Amino acid sequence: MPELPEVETVRRGIGPHVQGRRIARVVVREARLRRPIPADLAARFAGVLVTDIVRRGKYLLFETPAGWLILHLGMSGSLRLVGAAQPPGKHDHVDLELDDGRLLRFCDPRRFGLLLWTREPPVHHPLLAGLGPEPLDESFTGAYLYEKAQGRRLAVKSLIMDSRIVVGVGNIYASEALFRARIRPDRAAGSLGRRDCDRLVESIKIVLGEAIAAGGTTLRDFVDGQGRPGYFRMQLQVYGRGGEACPVCARPLDSARIGQRSSFFCRRCQK
Ligand SMILES: [Zn+2]
Repeated sequence: MPELPEVETVRRGIGPHVQGRRIARVVVREARLRRPIPADLAARFAGVLVTDIVRRGKYLLFETPAGWLILHLGMSGSLRLVGAAQPPGKHDHVDLELDDGRLLRFCDPRRFGLLLWTREPPVHHPLLAGLGPEPLDESFTGAYLYEKAQGRRLAVKSLIMDSRIVVGVGNIYASEALFRARIRPDRAAGSLGRRDCDRLVESIKIVLGEAIAAGGTTLRDFVDGQGRPGYFRMQLQVYGRGGEACPVCARPLDSARIGQRSSFFCRRCQK
């Protein structure tokens, strides 16, 4: 599933090719995504200039004078730039045809993705209005997390994966950040001290930053139109490694279900 670093990589990959271009035409082959693509989307955005593409959480927001396109990749979505002659595949549900003749093609085999529009600034859209701060933003601090954790019996891993607390910390990166911060994922959030929160916030920023940096090497995958979408996996220390040796103490790593999500940690290194 594309997580925040992958979505940011997509944004950086397609941004330079799409910003400053007009959408000549919108072709919708399959409107039945997580929510139906609005029937008037194609008419509304034909001929419109894309002035910017920004990311909020895992949403990509295409800014235009006619409003914003809100795009979410869902479980399996990808965006690629392809030549006009490239025939669409079975799961290529939408093409944004650019004024240089290329197509920004949205592929989504499982159709959990989303493509909507809004006239108002998208921060006010119901999908985005309740979102917490960006993890890499200065406003996401140890003091902030400490305040949000007070009195909560919820597992700390579930707390940091709650998009109302902070956006874009998915299952993989939550496990990795908690390992780096030496905090057990199933610990009650309210038991964290201020220093734990400082360390955890710093770890989240480092893990996501490293993943975004790793994604930079895959940028060309978005424009060559060949092969698989450019999702990548950074070197993971604990995620998916239950039973393998802890990279710090060599004891076998544990795995457990926390909040219905598989979680990996070291009982010795994480308290
Ligand atoms: Zn260990």
